[in-house]
Amino acid sequence: MASVEPTLDREATLAALRSTVARFASEEVAPILSEMDEREVFPEATVRRMKELGFFGLPIPEEYGGLGLGKTGYCAVVEELSKVDASHAAILGAHTSLGMTPLYYFGTEEQKQRFLVPAARGERLMAFSLTEPGSGSDSGALVTSARAEGDCYLLNGEKIYVTNGAEANVVLVLAANDVKLGPRGGITAFLVEKGTRGFTVGRLEKKMGLHGTSTAQLLFQDCAVPKENVLGEVGRGFVVAMTALDVGRLSLGAGSLGGMQGAMREALTYAKNRLQFDLPIVEHQAIQFKLADMAMHVHALKTMVYAAAEHQDRMGPSVKGWTREDRAKKTRDSAIIKCLASEWATRTIHDALQIHGGLGYIRGTPIERAYRDARISEIFEGTNEIQRLVVARDLITRGWVD
Ligand SMILES: Cc1cc2nc3c(=O)[nH]c(=O)nc-3n(C[C@H](O)[C@H](O)[C@H](O)COP(=O)(O)OP(=O)(O)OC[C@H]3O[C@@H](n4cnc5c(N)ncnc54)[C@H](O)[C@@H]3O)c2cc1C
Repeated sequence: MASVEPTLDREATLAALRSTVARFASEEVAPILSEMDEREVFPEATVRRMKELGFFGLPIPEEYGGLGLGKTGYCAVVEELSKVDASHAAILGAHTSLGMTPLYYFGTEEQKQRFLVPAARGERLMAFSLTEPGSGSDSGALVTSARAEGDCYLLNGEKIYVTNGAEANVVLVLAANDVKLGPRGGITAFLVEKGTRGFTVGRLEKKMGLHGTSTAQLLFQDCAVPKENVLGEVGRGFVVAMTALDVGRLSLGAGSLGGMQGAMREALTYAKNRLQFDLPIVEHQAIQFKLADMAMHVHALKTMVYAAAEHQDRMGPSVKGWTREDRAKKTRDSAIIKCLASEWATRTIHDALQIHGGLGYIRGTPIERAYRDARISEIFEGTNEIQRLVVARDLITRGWVD
């Protein structure tokens, strides 16, 4: 299978990209999923194929090793992958939304050449590490410390729940240069390379779903990170993290959109083929109403995700050039999408499982796996309670702005 050429015209490129991803997902990802889920292993071979196909540099411009397809192209790939599997989409998402895009927005030219180019080419995997045992939703309360010493910062502390944490070559780590200042001046973003002395991968969590992803504890003990690895300004790391999460929440919306379509497809096929009372169950209105609700939510979400992706693309790469209104809209829209998409996905997959009857509860069916995989989207990258706070604060501050 050929990778997608970035030189085709944009619409044709996106259509070609979608069909490449769909073919890859059905021919190469679907066959390994039962084993990946059962054994809870990182799918190395298919991740390597995603790198070969160019998926690891989708929104990054060609001059930095990517395909230059913006958030729109990135969301299209996440959507297509998620129709078949959420783990592959999560691996790509942690690398792209949370690792690479802040590097693209805030990195110096030297950092882009050193870190972004190999990441976008798929030569190095990235992860993002904000959460700590004592700071989840209240992420500004993190206590992993960063103390300046000579040419370095010494990092000390414990991070948890890091997606790609076991495999990543470079981790974007948020640490406190001054705990007392918290998110307003006290947090800095660091690019930490695997193999740096004092940096170790600790416990790997066992999870309900997303069994193809690692969820790692990271430990820092007098870990000396060179000052040139500070991403953005010292004390401005919280802005770096929140900018990454705006992209992450949008791509989670695209992931939920794909998951919903995958579940709808499974439910429709099953309902057309399952006979009860001498009729395919799809003839029953109770089943039809569930399918109709799925279609309506998919339709609405598709419009929302791509409108927000296009808005982020129109804002361009220069953070300093973003207007206050555009920033506020980006943050609000990605919070709305993340929250609604994850709740609609939960409901859609719940109903799709119900349509499968007892079979939906049997371990190893795609719908059973999708049900376990989907639940996390209401929790990670900011719980839905936090998304509602973001939306409410914006409404109170700006009023309703279309
Ligand atoms: C599989 C997985 C992958 C993850 N990947 C990453 C990653 O790659 N990088 C990373 O940094 N983190 C990652 N996380 C962490 C994730 O983002 C956090 O778990 C999440 O933000 C919630 O934090 P918490 O678990 O500490 O919950 P808490 O913050 O303790 O929240 C507990 C409950 O209280 C609610 N709550 C808290 N504060 C408020 C409030 N003010 N108002 C209303 N309700 C509130 C929450 O909504 C939630 O329901 C991952 C987590 C998991 C499980």
